[in-house]
Amino acid sequence: MKKTILTGIRPTGNLHFGHLFGAVSNWIKLQDDYDTFIEIADVQALTDNFNNPEKVRDHVLELTIDLLAAGLDSEKVHIFLQSEIKEIAELTVFYSNLVTMARLYRNPTVKTEIAQKKALFGNDGESVTYGFVGYPVSQAADITALQGDLVPVGEDQLPLIEQCREIVRKFNHIYGETLKEPEPYLSENARIKGLDGKEKMGKSLGNAIYLKDSDEELKKKIMGAVTDPKKIKKDDKADPEVCMVYYYHKLIKNDNIKTVCSECKAGKRGCVFCKQELYQKMLEYLKPFKEKRKYYEEHIDEVKKILQDGTSCAREKAENTMKDVKKSMKIDYFEERG
Ligand code: ATP
Ligand code: MG
Repeated sequence: MKKTILTGIRPTGNLHFGHLFGAVSNWIKLQDDYDTFIEIADVQALTDNFNNPEKVRDHVLELTIDLLAAGLDSEKVHIFLQSEIKEIAELTVFYSNLVTMARLYRNPTVKTEIAQKKALFGNDGESVTYGFVGYPVSQAADITALQGDLVPVGEDQLPLIEQCREIVRKFNHIYGETLKEPEPYLSENARIKGLDGKEKMGKSLGNAIYLKDSDEELKKKIMGAVTDPKKIKKDDKADPEVCMVYYYHKLIKNDNIKTVCSECKAGKRGCVFCKQELYQKMLEYLKPFKEKRKYYEEHIDEVKKILQDGTSCAREKAENTMKDVKKSMKIDYFEERG
């Protein structure tokens, strides 16, 4: 029997290069060999977008289209909606007893995200809700509801999977062996940097290249990407390793990469020229994606059906998990106990 993959993405924006190279490329690679469940994590998205439900709603189909256009095959994977699986909400409640507040606040991903929010919205502790601090618990529910063996994610997610593993161990210790302990799975580029040179490209960080960006948007973003700050004039020598333009040339595997590198080091390549070349290469790279995207935009009922079918499949699996969980927790009051 195939092992199960459970992973997810928040409908807070479109698919960007960070998602693609950091996680989605693995989903595509592994979809033949695993029973793959991809969650559109709308409930998690609402934890910090509760006051903007339109944004979350609008991005559910948008992201599903992006994922299909990027290469996920609807015949092989189940793309499903988190809010439609009530067992995930139930499990979140049960697991919340197994995690201390101190442990949640110590989670490095939660810590970083809270710091980012404070930087964006002011140093206001009031803006950090119970739901947001608790989202690792809900993510543990996502993974275990679907009995995920493998969770292919970007590096920022590792502390969340570790927290899930702790919850599983605690659950099994108290209530008896019931849940699977999942393993994380990273890509070779587990943390894709942003256009601004920051360590992580992210939707919430405003430094992302979206696969859906129009040609004009793409050009504008590439032209504004951070290059070696020491290079002032066109023919100054520069260090490609600190340049985001070189970084993206490498990422999309520009076959001209050796020349890009040597010319940059020798001061024989101006940044504007280098950016224009990257723009052309990216347009080529994105062409098949854009064509597929157009197809799904014109066949939106097909997309909805894929999401509905994926959700039914996920629901069946989560219902089975819930039976085992309730039995172990001795809250299966109306079931025959063997
Ligand atoms: P948000 O800002 O709303 O959290 P995000 O850009 O971080 O959005 P998510 O939906 O949280 O995107 O992440 C989906 C998947 O993509 C996760 O597995 C995450 O680790 C991965 N991912 C996101 N950004 C990057 C990145 N810059 N590098 C590598 N992986 C990434
Ligand atoms: Mg994120």
